[in-house]
Amino acid sequence: MKQSQLFTKTRKDAPKDEEALNAQLLIRAGYVDKVMAGVYTFLPLGLKVFKKVENIIREEMEALGASELLMPSLSPKENWTKTGRWDSLDNLFRFTSFYSKNEYALGATHEEIVSPTLRKFVFSYKDLPTATFQIQNKFRDEKRAKSGILRGREFFMKDLYSFHANVEDLDEYYEKATQAYVNVFNRAGIGEKTYLTYASGGSFTKYSHEFQTVTSAGEDTIYICEKCKIAINDEIIEDLEHKCPRCGNAQLRTEKAVEVGNIFKLMTKFSAPFELKYKDQDGSEKEVIMGCYGIGLNRLMGTAVELFHDEKGIVWPENIAPFAVHLLNLGQDEEAEKIYAQLSQNGIEVLLDDRDASAGEKFADSDLIGIPLRVVISKKSIEAGGIEVRRRNESESKIMTVEELINLLKK
Ligand SMILES: [Zn+2]
Repeated sequence: MKQSQLFTKTRKDAPKDEEALNAQLLIRAGYVDKVMAGVYTFLPLGLKVFKKVENIIREEMEALGASELLMPSLSPKENWTKTGRWDSLDNLFRFTSFYSKNEYALGATHEEIVSPTLRKFVFSYKDLPTATFQIQNKFRDEKRAKSGILRGREFFMKDLYSFHANVEDLDEYYEKATQAYVNVFNRAGIGEKTYLTYASGGSFTKYSHEFQTVTSAGEDTIYICEKCKIAINDEIIEDLEHKCPRCGNAQLRTEKAVEVGNIFKLMTKFSAPFELKYKDQDGSEKEVIMGCYGIGLNRLMGTAVELFHDEKGIVWPENIAPFAVHLLNLGQDEEAEKIYAQLSQNGIEVLLDDRDASAGEKFADSDLIGIPLRVVISKKSIEAGGIEVRRRNESESKIMTVEELINLLKK
């Protein structure tokens, strides 16, 4: 992509009403635009990052054997009264049609839709297990939305639902889903600071699990067991008498963290009200056992920004960066176009800064945007023998040929 084609521009200052660092940097660099508190537009650069995150998640969910579907955001009140969540879910957006006076909810989660859907297709033990997921926008009527894209009133979530004939089968799938989540966070570059965290299981199971990433921007407090590399969340730490549920260790480290994902054994909580049943081998009718598994995409992206930035701007992890290379043309139009074509032909994603701007401006914008490799083509670099290559997270630059750069990136 050529930067001159982008309608967005970087800006020196973030809007005054934006308190969160993740949103400040994303707005200044031209990734997102704030529409109102908790609601953001993904601008072209932001959508590139979003798609990277989305693809990682999609690949890991498909590897779990789940098939993708897309459910609507708008849902009827009846589905929510059936489970009692019309009244009990505090942050459910509810409204009334001006014409019909019917009441609706904007989906905050989709158990109320996926359960009756599966009822139309699952009849026998032969139809189980099965799993389906979507990547879709969710709505939550947050009282406070001050954490930038970490807590939105509208945001994107990957929600996976699994359906099983018995608890053993759910347990097995739950373990696999846990590993898939670890893979997602590792691939997205935030794995090192992300902990599998024990949380309250509700009325059906002892624990559920969250994935919590340690950052000072986090709204949650977690207690980390260094021996087991797991954590316990705030709501159950008292019940566990401040001890690790795996090894009994009482030396737990307290940290601020943000919840980037959660997994939950729903058991029959939703299959019961929607009469999602199957006929077992012995002919008896049983309720389907369910699990649900969520990852917030905006939140993952915002968490990466909270973890990886410096005073000059964002430092994207390679796998979710909008481009692999930021090519800065300093007065060498013809050469720059040639390099841009050559890299593109080799399948390397390049943002070419072809704008009519000063070198200082281009360097500052490149640091702010935070693409992992900055490549400069200038009179000076040509005289030195090629292009000047610098990693965003290093201060040293290196002169190399375009072929050497391609080899480096293909490794
Ligand atoms: Zn432990």
